[in-house]
Order: sequence, then structure tokens, then C-alpha cells
Amino acid sequence: VSPLGDAGPAAPARPAVYLVLLRDLTEAQRVERMRVDFVANASHELRTPLASVTGFIETLQGPARNDADARERFLEIMAVQARRMSRLIDDLMSLSRIELKAHVRPETVVDVAPILEHVADAMHPLAIESGVELKLDIRDRPLSVVGDRDELAQVFQNLVHNAIKYGQSGGRVDVTAVSVQRGAGKPARASVTVRDYGPGIAAEHLPRLTERFYRVDTASSREKGGTGLGLAIVKHILNRHHGQLLIDSKPGEGAEFKVLLDGAENVT
Ligand code: ADP
Repeated sequence: VSPLGDAGPAAPARPAVYLVLLRDLTEAQRVERMRVDFVANASHELRTPLASVTGFIETLQGPARNDADARERFLEIMAVQARRMSRLIDDLMSLSRIELKAHVRPETVVDVAPILEHVADAMHPLAIESGVELKLDIRDRPLSVVGDRDELAQVFQNLVHNAIKYGQSGGRVDVTAVSVQRGAGKPARASVTVRDYGPGIAAEHLPRLTERFYRVDTASSREKGGTGLGLAIVKHILNRHHGQLLIDSKPGEGAEFKVLLDGAENVT
């Protein structure tokens, strides 16, 4: 780093300072780059449905003005695109709310079991509509963890939703919750596994799945109503909880998403 190398006794302090400054600058540049990319991606994601809606409005004002059939069809498409924009804005708002609290660890003690039951109930209609049997198996009770009830519900909901929409062909989604012992004196951890038997995910995609707007297949994600932000939200929530997300999948054999959360002694 220093051209002075092994020079006299006064030299060593300087290179260290240069090094720290250099590292700070690269970190700041990296964060700035991520922010710029994020805004560009979010704008692009919003622009696509907006362009479609604008196009249909122009068609309805012009060539299709008196075509009742076309009006019905176009209005339906516009409604779908408007819902897509609305979902995207909801997810962007969720992300920024969680980021605001990124360094504040939740302090309340909650039981994961009723949260999972609630999520399974909420996802039941979608599972039926998709021809998927959704099975919830809670093996230990209570599953007390330190966490935020609504955020944990969002984590499980996003994972179960993905398992149903991407793993639909497997016909079954298993959600399993267990308590994992960790040596004397430490409260057990809660482990929640969401398993599907769909097409799975190739290994090269696994490390990038929790990046914002990363999709294995963008067209299929959009067609299924995805925003590309679901797993990024999961990761941010779990980071704030000091929890972990482990993803395991082999193409053709489905996917398994495991959430590990630090346990607590009692539910308040
Ligand atoms: P999206 O809104 O596109 O579903 P997510 O962040 O929730 O975004 O997921 C990112 C991508 O990971 C998805 O687009 C999909 O390609 C892939 N993925 C997530 N869950 C599964 C799963 N259970 N099986 C196969 N692929 C999945």
C-alpha cells in the first residue's frame, strides 16, 4: 500500500490511514450503486404495467372507441395491471418500513404456532384454487421466539405463497415447525420448514434469490403475480430478528426453505 515500504520508524502509521479511507469510500460507493440500481429497477417494474395501461387508454379513446367487446377485455387487462402496480407499491413500502427498523431487534416474545395456523388459514383458498394440498405440522408447542408477530407472519406467508405458486405441479406443500435444542442453558430455537415438490431451483440461482427483483424466470414470476421482492422482504425481516434462512433445492425435486429463529423462555 505504501511506497515507503519498510522505511524508518515514522512510516507505518500513514498506510493504515489510507487503507481505512479507501475501504470507507468503496463501501459508500457500493451502497450508492445499490441505491441507484434499486431505484432504476423499481422504476422499470412500475413503468411496464403503466405503459400497458396508457396504451389501452389511448386505444379506447381512439380506434376502439365504439367497440364494446374490446372495451370489456381492455378494462379487464387494465385492472390486472393496476393490481400489479398496487402489489409492487405495497412490497416497496414493506421493504422500506423494515429497512427503517433494520438495526432494532424486536423485543417481544411470541409463539410461532398460532402465527403459522393463521397463515395456513389465509393461504387455504389459494391452495385449493391451485390444486395444492397444504399441510401444517406443528410438532412442538409453544414455539416461543423473540420477534414481531406481523413481520413473522409475512415471512411465512411469502414462503408458503411461493411454494404454492411455483411448486403447484407437485400438488403438495408441507409446513413443518419444530423446536431445536441447543445445549444447556440456551432456549431452544424454532425451526419452520416450507417444502414443495415442484420444479425446484437450479444451484446457480440459490445464492441470489433474496436479492431485490431477482427472479429465476421473470415472465413466469410476473404471470404468477410476483413482484420479485418477496424473498428480499423475508431476508430483511429475518436479519432484523437475527434469524436465518436456509434454502435447499434440486431441479425436479422441489424446494425447501427453512427459517431458524432464536427461542425465548416464555410467551407473554
Ligand atoms: P416473486 O415475487 O417473483 O415470487 P420472490 O422474491 O418471492 O419473488 O422469489 C424470487 C424468485 O425465486 C421467484 O421469481 C422464483 O423464480 C424463485 N422461487 C421462489 N420460491 C420458489 C419455489 N418454491 N420454487 C421455485 N422457485 C422459487
